[in-house]
Amino acid sequence: MKFGGSSVANASAMLNVYQIISSQKCKKLVVLSACKGVTDLLIEAANLSLQSLAKSIEIINIISEHHKQIIENAIKTELRWNAMDEIGKLIRQIREYSEGIFLLQELTPKMLDYYVSFGEKLSTTVFYYILLENKINAALINSENYIITNSKFGEAEPNYPIIQSKVQKELKPQFDAHDTIIAQGFIGSDLECRTTTLGRGGSDFSASIYGLALDAKEIQIWTDVSGIKSADPRLVEQAITLDEMTIDEIRELSFYGAKVLHPDTIKPAIEAGIPIKVLNTFSPLEQGTIIKENNQASEPKLHSISVLSEVTKLHFHLDAKRNNNLQIVDILNYLIRRNIKILSSSQSETSFVLFAKLENQQINNIIATYTDFQVEAIKGDLICLVGNNILLDKELLAKLIKKIESYQIDYIQFGINKQLSLLFSKENTREIIERIHSVIGN
Ligand code: ASP
Repeated sequence: MKFGGSSVANASAMLNVYQIISSQKCKKLVVLSACKGVTDLLIEAANLSLQSLAKSIEIINIISEHHKQIIENAIKTELRWNAMDEIGKLIRQIREYSEGIFLLQELTPKMLDYYVSFGEKLSTTVFYYILLENKINAALINSENYIITNSKFGEAEPNYPIIQSKVQKELKPQFDAHDTIIAQGFIGSDLECRTTTLGRGGSDFSASIYGLALDAKEIQIWTDVSGIKSADPRLVEQAITLDEMTIDEIRELSFYGAKVLHPDTIKPAIEAGIPIKVLNTFSPLEQGTIIKENNQASEPKLHSISVLSEVTKLHFHLDAKRNNNLQIVDILNYLIRRNIKILSSSQSETSFVLFAKLENQQINNIIATYTDFQVEAIKGDLICLVGNNILLDKELLAKLIKKIESYQIDYIQFGINKQLSLLFSKENTREIIERIHSVIGN
């Protein structure tokens, strides 16, 4: 069970998490993020240590107060003093490290990883004492001992075989004596025992790695929204929670702008056949969304819509006298050399069309470079329709076209693959999305 930053933001949120975990009567590993906002504060404090130790200490004090406040509000017995003591020790370590950064006048990615690891160390320590206070037979472990990674500080990659063996040999036996084991998300260590982190938002990844190594029956990702939605509720009021989604649908949605789980982080567990559920900490009785493998058959259906704004559609009118493929390769090389991510592309005898996020200066440079053929650039929104094989359902397709027939759509590509279709529009995006969305759930 993984709980994100807002799920452990304060005392009442943590007590709510305690209720959720104690209502599930099985052995469980609980992975926690840092309290909401604390990782950002730590990054700020670390950077400030280079200039002003006093300013950095001010932020550390805010972090310290925040955790002490949670302890005061949630722990009433003498355990309060043990918890305060442990938090005090961690805070002292952060302060000392700040002094080190100030003296060395250096903050490397390796040092920053160690520094930010305290966010999760603090949240898990406080939560551990809350569980003890409530007579839960819990243990607190240090993820630096189990999540072994390479040394890519800031974005470390797990070493699955070593993790598997450590978890099986050293972590699993601890479940004989404890029902609940608490671990920090986000952090690990390299083979030389130096702290690493898995990248921002990495706690989902931690949950997936632990779930895989423990051969868990299920992985639950608890967030502050009810599972995965059919659209961003800020854009479409009627957005619903989806019962299930495939991993490839999630990949497409996240590539085209939706704030969903990072697909790469959950892929290993999904491939091992472990179901992943996305649930809402603040509405725990809702059933949430189950993420499935791709190959499970289901009926043709539109599931979800996302939108990427401020996208540029580039239309190259190809030179009839030159080989098309060579012209396209040349354009692609130009973009790759400049690290420009292509969001989608298509071609014909006369045209090459592509979509990318581009600054005005980049667009001008492209137009100036390709003077031998005409290039048109327009900005708009790329709308991504994700579902299962919508091309197989003629009625559904007809309905979709009917919904958008009165709008000026600048590009449509249905059925790019089994789950994805794309539309591009310069205006009325919100209305278009709402109209398309009305097909979902019908
Ligand atoms: N605390 C880390 C972050 O804010 C990791 C996480 O929350 O998943 O990025």
